[in-house]
Amino acid sequence: MSDPTTTRTYGLTASEISNLGEKATAAKSLAYCPYSDFRVGCALLCEDGEVVLGANIENASYPVTICAERTAFSKAIVEGRKRFRAVGVCTDISPPASPCGMCRQFIREFCDLNTPIFMWDKDGQYVVMPLEKLLPMSFGPEQLRKPDPASK
Ligand SMILES: [Zn+2]
Repeated sequence: MSDPTTTRTYGLTASEISNLGEKATAAKSLAYCPYSDFRVGCALLCEDGEVVLGANIENASYPVTICAERTAFSKAIVEGRKRFRAVGVCTDISPPASPCGMCRQFIREFCDLNTPIFMWDKDGQYVVMPLEKLLPMSFGPEQLRKPDPASK
């Protein structure tokens, strides 16, 4: 369920938000997590309207594991999608889990700081906040942008 303030703040319709929640929830079933049994689903609302899914993929060598968010973004990027309107994640706990620090930085590479990050819990309730609030004073691509030679 989305409130009018959320839809206004982030420029999303109520149906876009509920669709994102349904997709992120469904994506949990794609998780490969035999060790933690902690399923995470991710759904990205791309600028072109497409929704790209991801799920966590664990590995017997634990640090090799990749989170749902990075799976989804990697998939979207190689499909040629590099602009996103919203990120949705879903877990089986309540209150909802938020993206880990590594994923926050990964998201930062491809999303504006005001991009909403929706976090759904096991009961379909969500918390939403802009990326900037999850990753304050962040380091991003613009810090490495080369100076314009014409401005010298
Ligand atoms: Zn992560």
